[in-house]
Amino acid sequence: MTERPTTTTDAGIAAPSDEHSQSVGPDGPLLLQDHYLIQKMAHFNRERVPERVVHAKGGGAYGTLEITEDVSQYTKAKLFQPGARTESLVRFSTVAGELGSPDTNRDPRGFAIKFYTEDGNYDLVGNNTPVFFIRDPQKFSDFIHSQKRRADNNLRDHNMQWDFWTQSPESAHQVSLLMTDRGTPASWRHMNGYGSHTFLWYNAAGEKFWVKYHFKTDQGVRNFTDAEADEWKAKDAELHVRDLYNAIANGDYPSWTVQVQIMPFEEAADYRFNPFDITKVWPHADYPPITIGTWTLNRNPQNYFAEIEQAAFEPANLVPGIGASPDKMLQGRLFSYPDAHRYRIGPNYLQLPVNRPRTEVHSYNKDGAMAYTNPSDPVYAPNTAGGPAADPEPWRGDGYGVAGEIVRSAYTLHAEDDDFGQARTLWEKVLSDTDRDHMVANIVGHASAPEVTAEMKPRVVEYWRNVHGDLGDRVAKGLGVSGG
Ligand code: NDP
Repeated sequence: MTERPTTTTDAGIAAPSDEHSQSVGPDGPLLLQDHYLIQKMAHFNRERVPERVVHAKGGGAYGTLEITEDVSQYTKAKLFQPGARTESLVRFSTVAGELGSPDTNRDPRGFAIKFYTEDGNYDLVGNNTPVFFIRDPQKFSDFIHSQKRRADNNLRDHNMQWDFWTQSPESAHQVSLLMTDRGTPASWRHMNGYGSHTFLWYNAAGEKFWVKYHFKTDQGVRNFTDAEADEWKAKDAELHVRDLYNAIANGDYPSWTVQVQIMPFEEAADYRFNPFDITKVWPHADYPPITIGTWTLNRNPQNYFAEIEQAAFEPANLVPGIGASPDKMLQGRLFSYPDAHRYRIGPNYLQLPVNRPRTEVHSYNKDGAMAYTNPSDPVYAPNTAGGPAADPEPWRGDGYGVAGEIVRSAYTLHAEDDDFGQARTLWEKVLSDTDRDHMVANIVGHASAPEVTAEMKPRVVEYWRNVHGDLGDRVAKGLGVSGG
């Protein structure tokens, strides 16, 4: 038998017993002086950090991005240069459910990747859909509240979901995708990922481009029907966590082909859709996806809490060669993600091993709860004591001109912008007959929940009629709304 280490307190002192508390005689009361017992009980009470308000349930793995093509004419970002190999961490998740909620709920899936680049961490915090429900962060907390639980009975409520959606017509494209079988992927390995937002790329000469990212699954897209997804909720609520872990443990490494759509900077102004509106895609015919490399997941975490629960992704982590765009949802997320981490896992979350960059950190930020690494003197800039000094050179190229009145307003409409057009294209040109049948059934099933009121149903029908007359008629028929 191998020799076992001695149990200790967290201060490294040998523990007196794994089984018995200190008591006054074998049958007497326990003693406050039993520090080992007190420490165990007190620490147990503090095992949980707050779960994420959104994307609480998830799983993840490590992987490698390998760039096989040359896109140096578009970006100087080192991780995208020909032949570059970059270690990364991904976290897949559902959005609305809590930490223990079923993996096969109908929901978009988070697809958040952290690249440990030689220029610091680059986070691409995407979804398995190319678009989103809303286009202004002003509406984000309201949207999420409508997806979560009611105040009175603490139940999720389809009536409030439709109440929000039908009054937010910009949601129609994303709700369309959600109501197809892509809303219930068979596994995380069998879904595509999208950066969803538009980002800025700039090359070594400072030339600028707009970019969208696509991760196309090499396993093929595979979805569940609504009935299959429901069945799995009862059979194995952790299906997707288990599937990914087992695939990697068995050496069956999932991979994705990485593609980008590139729009020359100047074309944004006159493009037929507002290219920064996250409720829209850039049709492939306008900006054909270009393959740039491959991304393979090849290593499981060893400690779920440390490496996945404490993983902190933030769209604001942008490395030289990559910048933000004026996408309003992106602008909101640049603030809200790091702010959520400061609340959830503390102001020094970037010092945790999973979040720490693989490059040296020379920051003047210091102290705070759980500070583990701290700057030495000098602790301020500017200084004459040889402390770190900022270098603007790598960032040359990330700026662009903007001007305008300060307003509260919708986006400027481009020639073909409306809330329903791209959802209509999906229904008319992309979905097969079977896809359409399932989409209608999924909508009707969702809007037939007992809490959906008789007054709400015609609004649901109207919403879908705006996407397409046939779709609206079929939903009306399914919901028993007259005029269908
Ligand atoms: P294309 O015909 O060039 O592309 C349509 C794309 O739709 C496909 O390439 C595929 O993208 C995706 N798709 C295929 N089957 C389904 C399905 N059952 N459910 C959801 N998406 C599917 O047309 P456009 O580029 O002009 O886009 C037309 C519509 O397709 C858009 O309005 C949008 O609704 C949808 N779409 C477009 C995407 C884009 O980036 N242009 C991406 C995804 C959907 P993929 O291989 O990425 O899954």
